[in-house]
Amino acid sequence: MSVARVVVIGAGIGGLAAAARLTAQGHTVTVVEQAPTVGGKLGWLELDSPDGCFRFDTGPSLLTMPQVFRDLFAATGDPLERTLELRRLDPLATYHFADGTVADADELTDDDGWRRLMDRARRMWDATAPTFLEAAGPPSLTGLARRSPRDLPLIAPHRSLRSIGRRYLDDPHRQMFLERYATYSGSDPRRAPAVLATVPYAEHTFGGWYVEGGLHRLALALADRAGTVRTSTGVAGIDLTTGRVSGVRLSDGGHLPADVVVANSDATALYRDLLPRPRLVPRGEPSLSGLVVLLGLRGRTPGVGHHTVLFPAKYDDEFDSVFHGRMPGDPTIYISKPTDPHLAPRGCEAWFVLVNAPRHGTGPTEFDWDAAGAGDRAADAVLAGLAARGFDVADRVVVRQVITPADLQRRTWTPGGSIYGSSGNGARAAFLRPANRSPVPGLFLAGGSAHPGGGLPLVALSGAAVARLVGSA
Ligand SMILES: Cc1cc2nc3c(=O)[nH]c(=O)nc-3n(C[C@H](O)[C@H](O)[C@H](O)COP(=O)(O)OP(=O)(O)OC[C@H]3O[C@@H](n4cnc5c(N)ncnc54)[C@H](O)[C@@H]3O)c2cc1C
Repeated sequence: MSVARVVVIGAGIGGLAAAARLTAQGHTVTVVEQAPTVGGKLGWLELDSPDGCFRFDTGPSLLTMPQVFRDLFAATGDPLERTLELRRLDPLATYHFADGTVADADELTDDDGWRRLMDRARRMWDATAPTFLEAAGPPSLTGLARRSPRDLPLIAPHRSLRSIGRRYLDDPHRQMFLERYATYSGSDPRRAPAVLATVPYAEHTFGGWYVEGGLHRLALALADRAGTVRTSTGVAGIDLTTGRVSGVRLSDGGHLPADVVVANSDATALYRDLLPRPRLVPRGEPSLSGLVVLLGLRGRTPGVGHHTVLFPAKYDDEFDSVFHGRMPGDPTIYISKPTDPHLAPRGCEAWFVLVNAPRHGTGPTEFDWDAAGAGDRAADAVLAGLAARGFDVADRVVVRQVITPADLQRRTWTPGGSIYGSSGNGARAAFLRPANRSPVPGLFLAGGSAHPGGGLPLVALSGAAVARLVGSA
């Protein structure tokens, strides 16, 4: 396409990735973001206290598939490693089981069954990554079956992650360790497809990484290459002229003409609210949400590394609750305590604590997070859960901030506060995600609710797919 005027709705990582690539291709790009800062779910918060300032990533705490970001940075300016300081985490995390067993990822993966499973996951990855992740999509199951019929038994599309795990792994700890990877796409391991075994394969092959100074720096670095970025400006609608996009209407009454619009906003909200005539989009089940408790702690906690996972006694109860509108009584607790001097005053620690949570709303599978005291009660339960597992930090708390699914919805305009857009639940989930090219000429989708799904590397891949589609239009 010759030089186009591009408007990107939303400065999440998918939107910024698309904007940076399209700017590098020579297009005139404007990113319009309703929030006062860039990054979307990759948020950042600073909390002052008498002990000094605590700083927190409020969203992602682990960067996987760094090659996706190496490609993105190389295509748009200085290489990644010259722009940001990345540190590979070793160990990736330490896992505490309810029976008192403590193991890190290296110990859990030192097992013949695990190695055989990861060998299969490698072959699954080779068979699926080009169509499921890298190409614009979504793919079609019949197309896949026609192109590579021999891969279908390998991928086992109707088998669940739990079922494939139980075939290879005898140890319940390893089964639980595997099943947790379903939550990387906000899914239930009993309903997520077996192909999600590629998630631990990718994490252990390409590593899990931290960005010094906080992962949010990734968003700031991309915003520097994303053309003109206008924050605190919402998009209220997309204008069409003879059926093709011609611009966007801003919530402050302004108008921006455009030849191309890239929506990084939630796909359902886009098709329902931003087009002149609402359209129905096929969509899988939304991903689960999360309750975040940010804690500034005085003093040091021995035995807590960068990432710690406290598994519950009954994992199924957690999924039965979060996908049915209830907060689990004994959820998995994830602690991220970056070993980064930028984040906490001297002698203190900045903890990001996350538990899976039902989406915000009043429907049967949702939870009303705006009910009086709901967030604080849930956060108190998380602190009690920490204490029960030997991490009683309550009397060391200097600052505390709770971010509920309702807060996430308000901050990022994500319906229900789904962390990952749509979940991987069900054999058809990957095939149901809204396409990167919309049926409306000139309108494209990048972000967690579109193909190929949520998580930092995947939304960056959606931005790359959109840049290719625009470039070849
Ligand atoms: C608590 C938490 C923990 C997570 N942990 C990890 C992790 O460890 N690793 C990982 O890889 N991923 C993680 N994720 C997921 C990851 O953050 C997301 O998948 C990813 O950041 C989403 O990017 P996106 O491109 O979909 O855009 P979003 O982040 O959803 O941003 C979309 C942007 O569009 C803006 N917008 C929407 N509508 C409009 C409009 N009409 N006008 C203007 N602006 C609009 C929003 O304000 C928002 O800024 C986590 C997420 C959360 C919330």
